[in-house]
Amino acid sequence: MSSYVVSREDLAHNYRILKEKAGTTPIWAVVKADGYGLGVKAYAKELYALGLRHFCVTEPREAEALRACGFSDISVLMLRQLSDPAEIRSMWKSDVILTVGSLEAAARINAAVDGPVSVHLKIDTGMGRYGFLPEQLSEMIAVYRGGKHIQVKGVFTHFSCGFCDDALTKKQYEQFRKTVSALEQAGCETGIVHCCNSAAFLKFPEMHLGAVRLGSALLGRMSFPTDLKALGTVETTIEELHFLPKGYTTGYGAIWRAKRDTTLAIIPIGWSNGFQVSCKEDRSRAVDCIRGGLRELRNLLKRPVTYVNINGAACPVVGSIGSLHCAVDVTELKGKCRVGDMVRLSINPMHQKGMEVVFR
Ligand SMILES: *Cc1c(COP(=O)(O)O)cnc(C)c1O
Repeated sequence: MSSYVVSREDLAHNYRILKEKAGTTPIWAVVKADGYGLGVKAYAKELYALGLRHFCVTEPREAEALRACGFSDISVLMLRQLSDPAEIRSMWKSDVILTVGSLEAAARINAAVDGPVSVHLKIDTGMGRYGFLPEQLSEMIAVYRGGKHIQVKGVFTHFSCGFCDDALTKKQYEQFRKTVSALEQAGCETGIVHCCNSAAFLKFPEMHLGAVRLGSALLGRMSFPTDLKALGTVETTIEELHFLPKGYTTGYGAIWRAKRDTTLAIIPIGWSNGFQVSCKEDRSRAVDCIRGGLRELRNLLKRPVTYVNINGAACPVVGSIGSLHCAVDVTELKGKCRVGDMVRLSINPMHQKGMEVVFR
């Protein structure tokens, strides 16, 4: 059976590094997407044990899972607006901080609850979903002034290009700061002001402000080099040693042909488990289409090799990765591996599927 192993030591290592960089700024752990694929409950328990007390989610069921952990001293922020009155009410009852990004959202909350409710205002500085535009200052002020049950406890934004465009991120940051100042000048208490996701946090210490919202950095899965440890190792076993004479092929499409007599280790992990699956790239801009196209062309010519670890040796995956299986060339191991031996490989937690998640 294959397991998906998350090293507690590596998670602690990442947290230590992030905490050092954050200094006195509180870290809000983002556990959306079912805890980035690790299971909200299991993952949150690990984070809690490390000392994290602030969590962010995007789904009511994730907030409920956090509450079901029984922690009495955590705060939970819902990062998006909710439209369903029943969901709003149930989140309010669970003492979840809600997000308000429009007057309509504020009205829905005021209508759904019958007591004080904490919210953070969301400002749209370029992500273009959920949030007041910076020029909608009077609407934001109206949330404060007209707000029956609503109590604003924070103001935040979410950068669209923290990982890829520093100049634009700085511009969005400036716009965010200006909006926050305008609110303050209008006599509105802004509470906790926050804007950083992992990429912005690591790149721009001056943007940390009142809190930082970290997801991928805790998992050490950034798109640029860092001193964090990438979490998430699959442990599986060699299910078959398969001999292929020179000239024979393996895998769908028969794209790989043995250039010599070859021994393959067949492992029961494929793309449906998330192996070699990558985040969908944003190809909406012409420049990204060209960049992506060039990269694919380069990859096609170079055929970058994916390695797995067998008995301490890096062994190349050959042929196309199937939905549930792939083949590894173990010819170089010269018989020093057997059916049942352990194979280790890396998969992003967000993509892993169909395996038991184990923290240890
Ligand atoms: C996902 C998300 C984050 C965390 O993003 P990472 O890049 O994984 O750190 C922070 N804020 C909001 C609003 C998000 O949706």
